[in-house]
Amino acid sequence: MAIRKIITPPNPLLKQPSLKVQEVDDNIRALIRDMFDTMYAAPGIGLAAVQVGEPLSIIVMDIHSGDKDKEPRPYAMINPEVVWASDNKVTYQEGCLSVPDVYDEVERPAEVKVRWLDEQGNEREQLFTGLEAVCVQHEIDHTKGILFVDYLSRLKRERYLKKVIKRAQQEMTS
Ligand SMILES: [Zn+2]
Repeated sequence: MAIRKIITPPNPLLKQPSLKVQEVDDNIRALIRDMFDTMYAAPGIGLAAVQVGEPLSIIVMDIHSGDKDKEPRPYAMINPEVVWASDNKVTYQEGCLSVPDVYDEVERPAEVKVRWLDEQGNEREQLFTGLEAVCVQHEIDHTKGILFVDYLSRLKRERYLKKVIKRAQQEMTS
């Protein structure tokens, strides 16, 4: 069990597409455990491997993270892919553990079908709706080097990234 450091801009890894996992082995399962530990500790509802500095196509999600009154709904997905997206869209106020203290509205398909490999290497496919649909799309974007702020205007994006970088510099010097 280990809580990993979450990377922030301008770390170039966040802009790079992650590599597909070739074999689901104990190293991958250990990384997934660390990702859950890191996500729950933050707390956050989703995390991609690249956010802990491992550019592999793996995401974890639990929309009940940080809510002790609700049953956990953990998902670990290896090589996740959106295979179908609804035409109807939903706008949600998103945030990201790699872009701390920034929240803004992003429009995305309201429902998506996702295909992935589970921790045993078995193929899974499921339809996601509501917050899980938003979260799984946000996390899959990370595996492609996309941050949610990339959907915002250039002006907003630059302002937000400046804020994140300034905060990281202050943490380093304090
Ligand atoms: Zn994120």
